[in-house]
Amino acid sequence: MKKILAIGLVLVLVLGMVACGGGGEDTDADVPVYKAITEATFPPFDTVDENGNVIGFDMDLIAAIGEDQGFKVEFVDMGFDALIPAIESGTGDIITAGMGITEERAEKVDFTDTYYDSALIVVVAADNETINSVDDLTADMKVASQIATTGAGKVESLLADGKIKEAVILDGFDACMLQVINGDVEAVIVDEPVANAYMAKQPGKVKTVGDVMDAESYAFAVQKGNAELLEMINTGLQNVKDNGTYDELVMKWIAGETE
Ligand code: GLN
Repeated sequence: MKKILAIGLVLVLVLGMVACGGGGEDTDADVPVYKAITEATFPPFDTVDENGNVIGFDMDLIAAIGEDQGFKVEFVDMGFDALIPAIESGTGDIITAGMGITEERAEKVDFTDTYYDSALIVVVAADNETINSVDDLTADMKVASQIATTGAGKVESLLADGKIKEAVILDGFDACMLQVINGDVEAVIVDEPVANAYMAKQPGKVKTVGDVMDAESYAFAVQKGNAELLEMINTGLQNVKDNGTYDELVMKWIAGETE
């Protein structure tokens, strides 16, 4: 009898720990946990807090979608160029990385409905008086961008057209900004909302010049053929748009930060 009581007590304790989340780990067997992969040098979409946790608009949005659709997410930070290979190999489930839909990428992964419209912009040091648009870039200049991004594609095509001297392709967006601030490169090409957020956080260091270029729309991405997950994300995205959560997140992370 004592033994049964003791086993009962252990069971109650174990069940209690499971119900409380077992110290942070998700142990609720009914709720699937997807690996949401990102490159976290891209605020306000993807960044890290002072404790190293991955946070941002993309994280809150996919978490809200998951809450609506009955799944959880855990975030994994990796190089931007590693995201699509990780989805292809199945080591990641959902790209949440401010990734724009391109034809080339869509051959390798399935994109969800779009969740944010963006475009590229040229960023120069705040005191640069000579570059006022992409047309002012010249064949003696170095221009930086982040590896495997649409910005890097733009920089590489400027190089191929002989319009700049060197394409400086770096791992993180923050590294690109340091290069332009330090004068190692004349310009950076990056997504406009990310440039705006940077300027709002660190005023007086850099500025955007000229018109936006090469419009793109961000979407989440899943493994090719994973129709079930794709459908859940699309339905959840529509629901969080309809119930006002999406607008709250735009205000929290993007509009509220830069206006
Ligand atoms: N939107 C850009 C792209 O899709 C950059 C994304 C990023 O650096 N996280 O390539």
